[in-house]
Amino acid sequence: MEERTMSDRITLRRFDDMHCHFRIGPIMIDVVPFTARYAGRATVMPNTRPRAILTGKDVIWYRDHLLRLLNGMKLAGMSVLEPLMTIEIRDNTTPKMIVEAKRAGAIAGKVYPLGVTTNSDEGLRDFSGKKILETFRAMQDVGMLLLLHGEIDQERTLVTKREEAFLPTLLWLAERFLDLKIVLEHVSTRSGVQTVERLGKNVAATITVHHLCLTLNDIIGYGVQPHNACNPMPKDFEDRDVLIQAATSGNAKFFLGSDTAPHLREKKECAKGACGVFTAPVLPAVLAEVFERAGKLDRLEDFTSRFGAEFYGLPLNEGTITLVKKEWIVPEQIGGVVPFRAGTKLRWQLLREE
Ligand SMILES: [Zn+2]
Repeated sequence: MEERTMSDRITLRRFDDMHCHFRIGPIMIDVVPFTARYAGRATVMPNTRPRAILTGKDVIWYRDHLLRLLNGMKLAGMSVLEPLMTIEIRDNTTPKMIVEAKRAGAIAGKVYPLGVTTNSDEGLRDFSGKKILETFRAMQDVGMLLLLHGEIDQERTLVTKREEAFLPTLLWLAERFLDLKIVLEHVSTRSGVQTVERLGKNVAATITVHHLCLTLNDIIGYGVQPHNACNPMPKDFEDRDVLIQAATSGNAKFFLGSDTAPHLREKKECAKGACGVFTAPVLPAVLAEVFERAGKLDRLEDFTSRFGAEFYGLPLNEGTITLVKKEWIVPEQIGGVVPFRAGTKLRWQLLREE
């Protein structure tokens, strides 16, 4: 589809948002419609509570749950969003579970190393044991993607160094499983970007909109700002520059995965606040700002709507969305959640359904 860019209006193919947290329960009703406004497909993260998505049965249960909501939205005249289902890979995930999950419709398996982020208390401990390697092999055999939360929590490693500490594991896996599609999720460092660039075409990375905007200063540099806190933590200015460069470069290894991750306000504003940024309500608008500032608006559609689909091996989305240059103020709160850039003015606005 040819992109039509005028100074005050952009029409883009509907997005693939390859990393979304939709949660379970009433909060879904508040958060899912924002993603459905711009995305034709969304990769749905499995680290849900109270029930994590670990098996084919879980996949069917969670997809039914989501489809009930999405079908209701469709009846109300809203756009259709296809959920791309995933399972969480833990130490006890077996090749048989992989085959069953794939049969149930899971497109990918997500690994959370132990203790690095929300709901990773039962995350993977060992990347090199015989059993888990058989599981990765099974993923490769059935054509399931391996999505990595690329951080390791170890002694004497600062939170800002956890991604770098993980990169040898990424290299090790990528060299052993040449036909396994591996995604370094929400890459956040210069070294992460360089590693993905260097590796073969079976390795790609998603980039979030908030990592294109924030540095560590925006979390702890001017008072503690819990609504910007996320994993991996945004880092230095140089890292952010490299991420912007990667996203706008036209390199097909880098595509959108928003990691939109809503937490109720009281879970963020407390002694031990949850990590995660709710970006879905502002995502297309903020991305347009970032790409415009970089002078690369013409590359936006490849990043949001082409490279992810190509890496996953999916046809491109049908349908379009349109952004217009019209200022608006981001609401302070949506369904009990404080969205990214709350209360600030944005230049681009997503038009309602076409
Ligand atoms: Zn995530």
